[in-house]
Amino acid sequence: SVPRRKDSVGVALVGLGHSASTRLAPGLQLTRHCHLAGIVTGSPHKIPEWQRRYGIPDRNVYSYDDFDRIADNPDIQAVYIVTPNDLPLPLTLRAAAAGKHVWCEKPMAMDAQEARAMIEACRRAGVQLTIGYRLQHEPTTRRLMAMARERPYGRILQVRAEAGFHAYDDVDPARKPWRLLPQHGGGAMYDMGVYALNAARYCTGQEPVAVRARQEIHRPHLFEGVDETMHFTLEFADGTVAECATSFGQAMNHLRVDCERGWYELSPFQTYSGLRGRTSDGQTFADSVPHQQARQMDDDALAILRGTAPLVPGEEGLRDMRVVDAVYASARAGGQRIE
Ligand code: NDP
Repeated sequence: SVPRRKDSVGVALVGLGHSASTRLAPGLQLTRHCHLAGIVTGSPHKIPEWQRRYGIPDRNVYSYDDFDRIADNPDIQAVYIVTPNDLPLPLTLRAAAAGKHVWCEKPMAMDAQEARAMIEACRRAGVQLTIGYRLQHEPTTRRLMAMARERPYGRILQVRAEAGFHAYDDVDPARKPWRLLPQHGGGAMYDMGVYALNAARYCTGQEPVAVRARQEIHRPHLFEGVDETMHFTLEFADGTVAECATSFGQAMNHLRVDCERGWYELSPFQTYSGLRGRTSDGQTFADSVPHQQARQMDDDALAILRGTAPLVPGEEGLRDMRVVDAVYASARAGGQRIE
């Protein structure tokens, strides 16, 4: 069974889907400051394999119905919510009420109002809330974040950030996955758009003051009430503009910053490995992190163990959700500029 260790945070994964099984559980085998201690799932058939593979005892297995009992479980200090986008709000409120720290995948919620409620619940419960923006823990990305502060090529004029993939051609319209359903927070903007948006914000180090957005749908039988491709432009107070795009219909993975006296880029910028940086004066740099999410979870676990502020708190997720709200509002209003 999973030992309880004072120097390691016991984590329960909530939602045993693709990301939990292919990224987070393997990542938790590499971490030093946290370990996989429990699971929360609505799919009983998944339980035996997870218990066997990761040595999870019966007492650390929960369903969504009996999840609140986690309050009494000393093996688990943090829950990591990895579900469709409508569930982080209710699950965070329950986890906070149970006195557990909350790690939550991006996007953290359906909108800014939900994000604020999550932040407030965790603040009142005295637990940490962090968002799984793995790239903000990754060194090549952090190099771009430092360049936003240091401005080695002078004023930043324009950012281009594009994140997307092509998928869903084989989906039966009568059995759509949650990423194509509006009630679960489907659509490219919520899913991949937040990578472009977050990058535009960390590459400028600023919050946008105005947003314009336009959506495109090429497969209307699949994309009903959710966006297939979203183009969005962010304006910053100092005149910098970020041109962003995201798509479920087109592969794109590129981040470029044009400045007064040069440029730099990361391409790809949001893969799990192989991030590659280049600058206009011939520098190149590449990532070297063995597992981005192991790094992320160790950083977040250390913040819990030391009682320090996490690197990527709920407030950072909220800043994205405010812009996501504006992107959707602008797209609905035919590309109107939203301040
Ligand atoms: P999946 O669809 O593969 O898994 C989601 C899991 O949520 C399901 O397997 C299920 O687990 C649980 N769930 C609970 N209720 C529902 C429901 N009504 N419909 C479907 N699933 C439900 O999604 P992903 O793992 O790909 O993505 C989950 C989250 O992780 C998303 O927010 C996504 O944006 C984020 N993500 C982040 C990544 C990153 O790099 N930071 C990478 C990929 C995803 P169970 O059966 O155990 O209840």
